[in-house]
Amino acid sequence: MDTVVKKEQKKVEISSAEWQIMRIVWTLNDVTSSEIINLMQKKQTWSDSTIKTLITRLTKKRFLSREKENGRYIYSATVEEQATMNEYANGLFSNFCAHKSGSVLNELIDSMEISRSDIEILQNTLNEKIKTAPERVKCDCLPDGCSDMC
Ligand SMILES: [Zn+2]
Repeated sequence: MDTVVKKEQKKVEISSAEWQIMRIVWTLNDVTSSEIINLMQKKQTWSDSTIKTLITRLTKKRFLSREKENGRYIYSATVEEQATMNEYANGLFSNFCAHKSGSVLNELIDSMEISRSDIEILQNTLNEKIKTAPERVKCDCLPDGCSDMC
């Protein structure tokens, strides 16, 4: 009998504090908890035990894996940074009214510091996107959608 191996779909539930830890691990790849604590305490006033708790939580949620090397644990990320950021942002926008998401996105772009090269990428994406874009995106807030209100 064929068995279909389903790729694990990990919902990105990471708190703001946990994101700070993940960003250190993504940047340095393999780190010990004391390295994380040292770097974290240059940015935040968190205690050692707070940071250790965050590392433990991320390990339990399997965003981090650890391996013992010369008597100490080396932590590394189990998920890719760009994909995790993308999923997190998608998850956030999926909470919003579809009709209003575009204006939220516009506000986001307007207020964010982005490089010229990223702006060029955005312009290219929009130039492609407008070719197949619908005239309007309907509100999906009610079970039957909205009538003509939006
Ligand atoms: Zn709506």
